[in-house]
This record gives sequence, structure tokens and C-alpha cells, in this order.
Amino acid sequence: MTMTDCLFCKIVAGEIPATKVAETDGFLAFRDINPQAPVHVLAIPKKHVASLNYADDALLIGDLVLFARDVARYEGLADDGYRVVINTNAGAGQTVFHIHAHVLGGRAMRWPPG
Ligand code: AMP
Ligand code: ZN
Repeated sequence: MTMTDCLFCKIVAGEIPATKVAETDGFLAFRDINPQAPVHVLAIPKKHVASLNYADDALLIGDLVLFARDVARYEGLADDGYRVVINTNAGAGQTVFHIHAHVLGGRAMRWPPG
């Protein structure tokens, strides 16, 4: 299903360009346009789910997390470490309402996050 007004659905459909780093039948990973770390990749399901608040498919969310893990491996982050973040709603900084996991690495991560 493609949501006509959704930026990430348009990337899935090839209507907006993105720098893809990995793709499976159900998932796509591409570089964030405004990277916050040396490696900053967004991992998304091709199926539109607006946010974690709307997620009801445990397999889809589990596979999304494993896909994000695989992206971190491909990007060479697995040993040094990386962070996988799902911002949910405005208070957490969500700006695109198609669920996505940020995969961040290549620098030391601070805790707590801002
Ligand atoms: P969030 O703020 O958690 O919803 O994350 C949305 C992310 O999408 C931000 O980090 C943006 O920099 C990124 N972004 C927005 N537009 C694009 C685009 N056309 N291609 C790649 N990343 C994008
Ligand atoms: Zn979408």
C-alpha cells in the first residue's frame, strides 16, 4: 500500500530519489539527507505504518529491527557500536510519519540522548 502524501512511500515507489544502502522484499534502507553521525541510515518497511503507535504486526516490527541490525553490520558498525532509534510523535522529534528506524554510528554516542 502506498500513501500518496507520504514522503517515504514516495521513496519506496521511486518517485523521490534516495541513496539506497540495502533492500529486501519488505524493507528499504537509505541514507538520511541530514546526517547526525558519520553513518546515518534510515531503515523502513515498504508497507506504510505511520508510527510505532500504529504498529500492530509483531513480525513486521521484529523484522524491521533485524533489518536495521543488518544495515549496521553492512556499514561496519557492529563491533564498535551503533544506535537504533525510532522517534515516535512530535515530542520525540518525529517529522516523517512513516515508521523508520534511524541507524546511527561512526562516532561515540552520548547518553542520555538529547
Ligand atoms: P524523524 O525526525 O525521526 O521523523 O526522522 C526523519 C528523518 O528523515 C530526518 O532525520 C530527516 O533528515 C530525514 N529525511 C527527510 N527527508 C528525507 C529524504 N528525502 N531523504 C532522506 N532522508 C530524509
Ligand atoms: Zn508511507
